[in-house]
Amino acid sequence: MTNTQHSPVTVLGLGAMGSALAWAFHKGGVATTVWNRTPGKDSELVAAGAVSAATAGEAVRTAELVVVVLLDHASVHEILDPIAAQLTGKQLLNLTSTSPEQSRELAGWAAEHGIEILDGGIMAVPAMIGTEGSSILYSGSEAVFTAHRPTLELLGSVEFFGTDPGLAALWDFSLLTIMYTMFGGFFQGAALVGSAGVTASEFAARASNWVAAMSQLLPPFGRIIDTGDYTSEVFQDLVFTKTALDTLRQAASDAGITAEPLAGFADLVDRQVTAGHGAAAFERTIEALRGK
Ligand code: NDP
Repeated sequence: MTNTQHSPVTVLGLGAMGSALAWAFHKGGVATTVWNRTPGKDSELVAAGAVSAATAGEAVRTAELVVVVLLDHASVHEILDPIAAQLTGKQLLNLTSTSPEQSRELAGWAAEHGIEILDGGIMAVPAMIGTEGSSILYSGSEAVFTAHRPTLELLGSVEFFGTDPGLAALWDFSLLTIMYTMFGGFFQGAALVGSAGVTASEFAARASNWVAAMSQLLPPFGRIIDTGDYTSEVFQDLVFTKTALDTLRQAASDAGITAEPLAGFADLVDRQVTAGHGAAAFERTIEALRGK
């Protein structure tokens, strides 16, 4: 049954994420229309009461809020460009993972066509959508965010980062950077300990506690980076860090595995030491990323 608290929503794209979003809207009482390039992915949603559209143009006709959740920036333009005129005057939410600059470009395109656009970064996997653990970051049109906030809250917790349409993606991608480098480190660690016959599952049980404990160090790191002073408070200096990383690379080599996940970070530390900052706090590594 639809709920008058929510405006009708159209979801363009029924991949794993688009389907999860459409189900969360539908279950929340939103009149939901769906479209997907490859037909047939909407059969269960339609059986449950969602409306299926044969084309993207038809799908957006009755919607006040159009949610686009396709593969990438190129596919978003491929689908939206031909229906720009039908979107004029409507509100658009881009939940496709696009880079900050791509989100800004899409916002410029939307402005040219009289479309109000909100951009979002989904900090969840499809199974988490609509659960407590799901969080979605937004930026762009505050009017769209405010008007549809109760509907957006059906997907997960919401946070608005500002009117720059690239901000949600910037936060999203910065958090994903941590995630992927952590996963890379986990795979390397699992390969290393696996050289002695330890299973990846055994390693994972211990590694998750270790990651949780080490994450407690991030706030102090942030504080030191923000002061820009890497000499007053040195928890671990760069020479010590370089020695540790060289030994870790040696251990990987001895075990017959490559150390690429670690190598990028180790190179940054090496560059800081070579530049004469060996006695500085290892948080100074961020300056190597900034090209300093
Ligand atoms: P899927 O690969 O499951 O689905 C991709 C969707 O994009 C399908 O609907 C596909 O249509 C459509 N598509 C791809 N190319 C085109 C095109 N050229 N024209 C029209 N439609 C196209 O991906 P997800 O649903 O998982 O991801 C969608 C977005 O959500 C991505 O940007 C992703 O980064 C983001 N996201 C996903 C998360 C996840 O854990 N899955 C987490 C956070 C964000 P068809 O069925 O016809 O192939």
